[in-house]
Amino acid sequence: MAKSGAKSQSPDLASQISEIDARMKNCTLCRLHESRTNAVPGTGRIADLDLMLVGEGPGRNEDHEGKPFVGAGGRVLDSILEAAGLDRNEIYITNIVKCRPPENRKPLDDEVETCTAYYLEKQIELLEPRLICTLGATALEYFTGETNMAKNHGKLLRSKRGLAIFSTYHPAAVFRSNSLREVLQADMKKIPSILEKLREREYQQDIAEFVGKSTS
Ligand code: SF4
Repeated sequence: MAKSGAKSQSPDLASQISEIDARMKNCTLCRLHESRTNAVPGTGRIADLDLMLVGEGPGRNEDHEGKPFVGAGGRVLDSILEAAGLDRNEIYITNIVKCRPPENRKPLDDEVETCTAYYLEKQIELLEPRLICTLGATALEYFTGETNMAKNHGKLLRSKRGLAIFSTYHPAAVFRSNSLREVLQADMKKIPSILEKLREREYQQDIAEFVGKSTS
């Protein structure tokens, strides 16, 4: 899924991402560090990134392993990605907060504010994903300010800063309601064609820019 006409990315991208991961692992900037076993950095593709998935925060298995979306929720995500023709190795997967909130509670506003300012925003700035897919209500609200998942899932939205956002349910939601598996699956299946359209739009913009420069 390499980008056509991709923006050039720094050759030391991997080391910059590693540096963020290392800071995160020792981070004490918010109260969530007190109860974590491991901070959970992102995983996956970093160069010429098409798709970033952003969930809410690590759960019990993620906290133990230090990796996002492992255990039962991770297996649901893997099967849904596979059925949508998406390869997990080609995607960067991370969360809004990088340490597990106690009892899996929703992260508090100040935790979200601190963690995203120091980590998620930096990850996005470095990786420049073509599309961000939010998994669950917390990530949807963070990027778009929208709180109604039923109304906004399965749609291409714009973040407050103009990033392309596609929202769907969190994989763990299928454990509360099995009917959401089909909804989640149907949403994910839209992503390849959305990426295709975003690539095409960028290509047309590149051409227009190139023609503009060569005739000016
Ligand atoms: S949740 Fe984020 S800001 Fe809070 S301690 Fe963990 S890494 Fe640091």
